[in-house]
Amino acid sequence: MNDQTHEMLEENDVNGYAKIDQYNPAAVERMSSHVREILVDLGEDPVREGLVKTPERVAKALQFLTHGYSLDPAQILRSAMFREEYQQMVIVRDIEIYSLCEHHMLPFFGKAHVAYIPNGYIVGLSKVPRVVDAFARRLQVQERLTMDIRNCIEDTLKPLGVAVVIEAQHMCMVMRGIQKQHSTATTSAFTGEFNSEKTRAEFMRLIQRGSPVA
Ligand SMILES: [Zn+2]
Repeated sequence: MNDQTHEMLEENDVNGYAKIDQYNPAAVERMSSHVREILVDLGEDPVREGLVKTPERVAKALQFLTHGYSLDPAQILRSAMFREEYQQMVIVRDIEIYSLCEHHMLPFFGKAHVAYIPNGYIVGLSKVPRVVDAFARRLQVQERLTMDIRNCIEDTLKPLGVAVVIEAQHMCMVMRGIQKQHSTATTSAFTGEFNSEKTRAEFMRLIQRGSPVA
């Protein structure tokens, strides 16, 4: 299939400010027709007023929710690496995560906490949430998402250690009634100095305390 990769720019005026989204028009077209068939299989009428534009909306939403495939997380880090002798723990905590579980294509969402101990290089702090997002905006399982983030920072920055903790709620559990409560899944991945109990305990203590400005 001739997969046109050139992208169409579309501007939507949302609440007074312009939001620019990128979509692949050929993929939107194909996915819309699949969604229309799904609506029919669900017993719905795809031409009734409320549903006429739904296939296209779903196709665009899915492309947005998986736009991480077109991002290069290592390149995001490399674009803002600076030589620096600082060798203490750097923590970016409470990073919002929105992802889709690859088993049900339903959302899971929560927070990521990321730390590293520099070894000659630091990275612009705003890049850490962007790396998290680049991996989260794909079909994922929480365990692999945790390791993807850890490995990317480890391989790119080559720090003395990396720590990643993710706490998330999975709609495939909550909405399907498998879990009645607001249970949270926690995953973690560590390298280097974070394998020492003392360093890891300090990291866990720092991400568990309340807001630093409180
Ligand atoms: Zn699932």
